[in-house]
Order: sequence, then structure tokens, then C-alpha cells
Amino acid sequence: MKILVLNSGSSSVKYQLIDPENRRFLAKGLIDRVGMSDSVVTHERHDGDKVKISAEVLDHQTAIEYVLAVLLSKNHGVIQDKSEIDAVGHRVVHGGESFSASVLVDEKVIDEIRENIELAPLHNPHNLRGIQAVLKHLPGTPQVAVFDTAFHQGMPPRAFLYGIPYLLYKKYKIRRYGFHGTSHYYVSQRAAELIGKPLNQLKIVTAHLGNGCSMAAVDRGVSIDTTMGFTPLEGLLMGTRSGDLDPTIILHIVGREGLSLAEANTLLNKHSGLLGISGLTSDMREIILERKSGNKQADLAFQVFSYRIRKYIGAYAAAMGGIDAVVFTGGIGENSPEVRAESCTGLEFLGLNIDNVRNSSPEGEKLISSESSKVRVYALPTNEELVIALDTMRIVKSSGKSIAAGASGVSSFHRVKGDGEEAKSAVEKRANVASEQKPL
Ligand code: ADP
Repeated sequence: MKILVLNSGSSSVKYQLIDPENRRFLAKGLIDRVGMSDSVVTHERHDGDKVKISAEVLDHQTAIEYVLAVLLSKNHGVIQDKSEIDAVGHRVVHGGESFSASVLVDEKVIDEIRENIELAPLHNPHNLRGIQAVLKHLPGTPQVAVFDTAFHQGMPPRAFLYGIPYLLYKKYKIRRYGFHGTSHYYVSQRAAELIGKPLNQLKIVTAHLGNGCSMAAVDRGVSIDTTMGFTPLEGLLMGTRSGDLDPTIILHIVGREGLSLAEANTLLNKHSGLLGISGLTSDMREIILERKSGNKQADLAFQVFSYRIRKYIGAYAAAMGGIDAVVFTGGIGENSPEVRAESCTGLEFLGLNIDNVRNSSPEGEKLISSESSKVRVYALPTNEELVIALDTMRIVKSSGKSIAAGASGVSSFHRVKGDGEEAKSAVEKRANVASEQKPL
């Protein structure tokens, strides 16, 4: 079976052709600078063959044409005919409260994704363009939407409500949603496999630390709290985003600096975080090098970044009544022993001890806690594309669309309501679903 996974952004389209049954990628690539005349297509085949092509890709329709052309190409391709693509799985950033599970795309789903554009104006329109382009170039091929927000829809109201008039939640859907859901799901599931226990028996804190950073409290397979909120600005310090802050600061900056609200928004999203504090860079590798050579601002950025992670590990241990494991992932989480060590400093009282030798061992999946540590700590590469491909396969098979039915049909994310008792029982429901899921 071959599933095409698409991540359609504003100026790029990432793709992977995956064989989900064998959990391996056949080809992957990136169309960069979509919408410009000097676009670049970078393509890699599973056997290591790589090619870079300059092109003019002015829209998403053309981007998908290029994806198909390179997959079909004689010299660099992996398929002979478009019909070999059994289904397409799309990363969709915001599912709002409409989607707590991945879904087969139809007209109604397209309308609902469109309705959620107001919650993610920078992402959902491009995700939709990817879906429309596939409708045109692969008509009749089943498509599945996998939402970044879905995994967090099990959060109870006490975790997702802000302390503002309830009316605003009802009127404008202002609440905490959370993002990076597929990554938090993947690494929690993978940690359960490595621990050798079902996910529905474990309390896991996951930390996705990339350019965007978020953490989740995964209580027996359900995300019961997460650091990102209404938008991906809340929570941890990030490359260029501030994370948590007192909202009054915005009014203060607007007044004192004479900024417009749009400029203040840009300041918090693009000029804050590691970049803002260090005054140098948003790149953690450079922050680490600079602090080692004595740069005080870089050290401050590093300290604020790591301290906030430590604080949330403690908060989530309290939220779940203990923790069995902490998982670090994303570019920083996978690759920085310094950030992992600093984030876990002082947590020995939770039974969490880092082993310095294990923590410094080279990349790849690794256990970094000591043998005697009650809490297991892992650094694990994430694989969001695999989650999307597996969800797509399960959903398409269970729907009986073109691929022969046969699998369990259980999707990775269970569909639950977000209100009151229903949300509370979602924890139990999800725990059941987690136990039914095949390991990733
Ligand atoms: P994105 O969120 O855009 O997918 P990534 O997950 O690739 O980003 O993470 C990018 C971040 O990972 C950058 O801050 C980069 O500096 C950091 N990073 C990558 N490798 C290392 C490393 N060896 N040590 C520390 N940080 C690293």
C-alpha cells in the first residue's frame, strides 16, 4: 500500500510517499518557495538517490503536479502510475472543536475546515489548497485530514478554558486547543512500546522542542493538558515566540512603543523567544555555542528556555498525580543533551535522574535516565508523517473506499465532545481506544 502524506504550508509543500504496512518511506521531498518564480524541488528516494530541481511553482495546484511528476519520474521516481497512490493524508493545523479524530475528506469536512480558518488564518487556507489540488490531480483518490489539534480534544474544560467571560468561549470559540498533536501522540505511543506497557497504563510528559515548542500531559493515552493554547504562541519559550506572558504587556508595549496591534503581534511571534532574549539568534545550536564562549544573553535565553520546561514537567506531574516517563523530541529535544539535562535539573524529588553518559550518546532513540530512576526519560525522534499515513490507511480501509477492507479501522484519535462530563469520560474512552491501537 502507498499513502501520499502532504503538509501544505503558505510557501512550501512537504511530501512523503509511505508504505504504512512496512512503516517505511519510499520517497520524500519539499517544494520550497511556492508562489515565487524561483521555487526549488528537493526530492529523495528511499535508496539515497537525491535530486534538486529549480522550477516556477506559482500555486499549490502546480506544487502537487511537481510532486506527482517527480514520484513518477523515470530516473528518480518510485511509482509507474498515479493509480498506485492508494490514498492521500493531509496535515491540517486546526480542527477547532469540530474534529477530535482524523476524518475522511468530503464536502462537509471541507466546509468545516473552511469554518475553522478564522482560528488558523495562516495555516488552514493552505492545507485546504492542498486538498483541492489533490481533488483535481488525483480525482477519486480517498483523502484523509489529520489535525494538529485533534489529540488535545480530550482536555477537560478545567484545562482548556481561559478565565475570561464564558460567553466569549461560546461566541468566538476562544479556548485552549493545543498543537503538535500527532507528534505528542507518536512519541507517547513509542515510549509505551519501549517501556513495554500499554499506553493506557502510563502517565507521560511529552516535550516537542523545535522552532515551535510545546509539552503535553498524556494521561493513559489522553492529552489532558498542553502548553500551547488558542494559538501556538502560548506556553514554552520558542525560537522567536514569547510563550506565556501577562496579556497586559501587549497593551503596555502598544502604548509605550507606539506600535499597532499587528506590529505587537509580530513582535511576540517573530522577534521574541530565544531570538528576543539573546538578541542574536533563534537557533538553539548557536545559543549553546555562544553561551559556552561566555555570552551572557545567550546563557539567559538558554536558562529561561530550560526553566520553563522544568516548571511544566512539575505542573504535569501534579495534573496527572505522578509521571512514569518524560519524552523529549523535535530538533532541540532530540539533539541537545544540554537542554535535556538543564530541564531535568532538580527533579530528583520526583524520582527522575538523568544519566550523563546516556544523555550524551549520539542521535537516535535513547533512554537517558539512570538505571535507578523511577521516571524513565527518553530522547526520541518524532515521526508525524507515519502517524498521518497510519491514520489514513485505517480510516480508508474502514470506510471501504477503494482499498480492500481488512484492518481494525480504529483511528488513532478518538472522537469525543469537549464539554463537561462527556470530556471527563473521554479520558476513559481514550484509554480504551489507546489499548486497542496497534503500536506504531
Ligand atoms: P521545526 O519546528 O521547524 O520542525 P526542528 O524540529 O527541526 O524545527 O527544530 C529546529 C531547532 O532544533 C533549532 O533551534 C535548531 O537549532 C535545533 N537543533 C537542531 N540540532 C541541534 C543540536 N544538535 N543541538 C541543539 N539544537 C539543535
